Amino acid sequence: MNAPGYFSPATGHLQQAADFPILARKIRGKRLVYLDNGATTQKPTSVIDAERDFYRDANANIHRGVHSLSQHATDLYEAGRERVRSFLNAGRSEEIVFTRGTTEAINLVAVSWGRTQLKPGDEIILSGMEHHSNIVPWQLIGEQTGAVLRVVPISDRGELDMEAYGKLLGPRTRLVAVAHVSNALGTVNPIAEIVRQAHAAGAKVLVDGAQAVAHQAVDVQALGCDFYVFSGHKLYGPTGIGALYARYELLSAMPPWQGGGDMIRTVSFERTTYADIPQRFEAGTPNIAGVIGLAAAIDYVQGLGMDRIAAHEQAILAYGTDALARLPGLRLIGTAHDKAGILSFVVEGIHPHDLGTILDTEGIAIRAGHHCAMPVMTRYGIPGTARASLALYNDERDIDALVAGILKAQTMFGKGGKHE
Ligand code: PLP
Repeated sequence: MNAPGYFSPATGHLQQAADFPILARKIRGKRLVYLDNGATTQKPTSVIDAERDFYRDANANIHRGVHSLSQHATDLYEAGRERVRSFLNAGRSEEIVFTRGTTEAINLVAVSWGRTQLKPGDEIILSGMEHHSNIVPWQLIGEQTGAVLRVVPISDRGELDMEAYGKLLGPRTRLVAVAHVSNALGTVNPIAEIVRQAHAAGAKVLVDGAQAVAHQAVDVQALGCDFYVFSGHKLYGPTGIGALYARYELLSAMPPWQGGGDMIRTVSFERTTYADIPQRFEAGTPNIAGVIGLAAAIDYVQGLGMDRIAAHEQAILAYGTDALARLPGLRLIGTAHDKAGILSFVVEGIHPHDLGTILDTEGIAIRAGHHCAMPVMTRYGIPGTARASLALYNDERDIDALVAGILKAQTMFGKGGKHE
């Protein structure tokens, strides 16, 4: 792949929509304007082909076979692990465990680490902007262990109150679990600083990177976090695959959380001994094709360059923020200084679901609702927002279409002001 060829010499912007076959689709006779990337991204041809080619040419089960196909499939699978390691800049490939996605990775840590490490009265600090998948697993484990949750409040702009965070940290804090980027607000949290303070208090840190990995380079060693989790499908990869990064010392001390084939060393009815990491956490046949597709997705974004993707999305975010801010009756929810490409908003007099439905008639896909972050909605006193979330293939035309669609909805609802 020739990365520079993907940038328009005129604008410096990425010009790669052609890599994503679905973007050529018409929706209700209109050009598809896909702005629901926070939910899932579209897939480039290289990812689709990698999965197909695996099933056509290399399919076999891994780790167990003596035959060539099985060994080849195992090599491809383990090469995928190495690709994730280098993508996150983890120190060792054993620190990477494949999971179904972010949700499963958090549950793995909650069950395996939490059940053995947490005692009654221990504290887990979460932020007020967490996705439900970084809240509920901790509540479940709290019910079993007696550990309690503490929540860092968020400001009107949607930034973490770092002073309050400093005060919440204490000798009982065992874990801080926080999103790298908020899916409802777009806020990019100051992870390195959060980690520094947590470690000074003797606590571990889990970072939910679901909304971060597709939008900026991530270096787990530079962040210093103990656990980092993400989903492949939000990174132009397949659904049903994701990864957990866990520091070697921590992961090697953690017990299995699911039992089955591939995670054992020896089994008898009296006693079972377990495999080394990471196999200890990958019971049963994994999503082999998913790993191969995820590796292709990583190759794709790295071919373009994470820094260039980030710069492109920041330019579209600035353009979109400006365009939406000029619409009468529209309020942006989440105006943090450090933001990723998420535009969450409410429009006076129009329910987000109605807005989403009207935009769909124009071929524009956005998300409407609480975005699995109900506490954020409660914080702002709203039932939900409309959310346009960006990816590397979005451009100014998509924002212009969104603005035109909102104006149309305002006219239909009799709320139309003039676009200043
Ligand atoms: N965390 C955040 C911040 C998210 O945005 C999401 C998905 O929207 C998740 C976790 C859950 O990801 P998955 O459903 O892929 O497990």
